[in-house]
Amino acid sequence: MTETQDGLPLSRSTTVGSIRIHGIEAGVQLLDGGAMFGVVPKPLWERRIPADHRNRIPLAMRCLLIEAPGALVLVDTGAGNKGDEKFRDIYGISNQGDPTRLEDGIRHAGFAPSDIDIVLNTHLHFDHAGGDTFVDEAGEIRVAFPGARHVVQRGELSFAHGQNERIRASYILENFEAVTRADLWDLVEGAVVITEGVSVMPTPGHTPFHHSVLIESDGEVACYLADVCPTTAHVPLPWIMGYDLEPLVTLESKRGLWRRAKEEDWLLVFEHDPRTPWGRLDPDSDAPKLLVE
Ligand SMILES: [Zn+2]
Repeated sequence: MTETQDGLPLSRSTTVGSIRIHGIEAGVQLLDGGAMFGVVPKPLWERRIPADHRNRIPLAMRCLLIEAPGALVLVDTGAGNKGDEKFRDIYGISNQGDPTRLEDGIRHAGFAPSDIDIVLNTHLHFDHAGGDTFVDEAGEIRVAFPGARHVVQRGELSFAHGQNERIRASYILENFEAVTRADLWDLVEGAVVITEGVSVMPTPGHTPFHHSVLIESDGEVACYLADVCPTTAHVPLPWIMGYDLEPLVTLESKRGLWRRAKEEDWLLVFEHDPRTPWGRLDPDSDAPKLLVE
């Protein structure tokens, strides 16, 4: 298989300076369009992404494989294979593969899953960290990348264990408890260099300890936004997800990002856009406006 059932190639590649990066299509999910666009009225958002008869819109789960000079880094891992039929139906998840489409995409980009040195989670929601573990044929939940060090913000891991009524549908402990048991976490705090050319920057709002990923090489910069701006439709500042725990914090995270992205001509990578993996902000537009490559 070289493309997904939606006609997208399993992986698409570009370069940031001398670092090669690959957008990996780890599957599709269908989420409520109203929840995805918060206070934006449906007549506006459905022009950008039309909804199905259950009011759900298709969203990619696009992970990023980074060929950094010192390490092969995988950012986020999609939804994994542990969800039962009911879960997969509610969230409209299609990510079948070996064991999931993520691994198929990694192979499509020219690597083996065992080549991954670092798994970098932007946060621990099920559509971002579900593939950190998988259930094997015997029904045992195992770490998907046992040779990799696993990076997330220290605060995000403890927040995920909070399990209050508003957040517990999004944090499924079996996605990451095996990583804890295997002692594979490398917990970071704040803005940190992960390996040469790859760093994380806090972009809170969606969750309090959400971070985005910067790839920097030879004066070029790419930013894997994750859920601070999930699709190209979310580029305008007030287009913020209803899922976000602190939308006004998201607003300021985005404002800061867009300022730097425009000044420094960043390549912006969109995790959930159903079609477009990346683009840059128009330097001549006052309001944030995306130029798709
Ligand atoms: Zn999320």
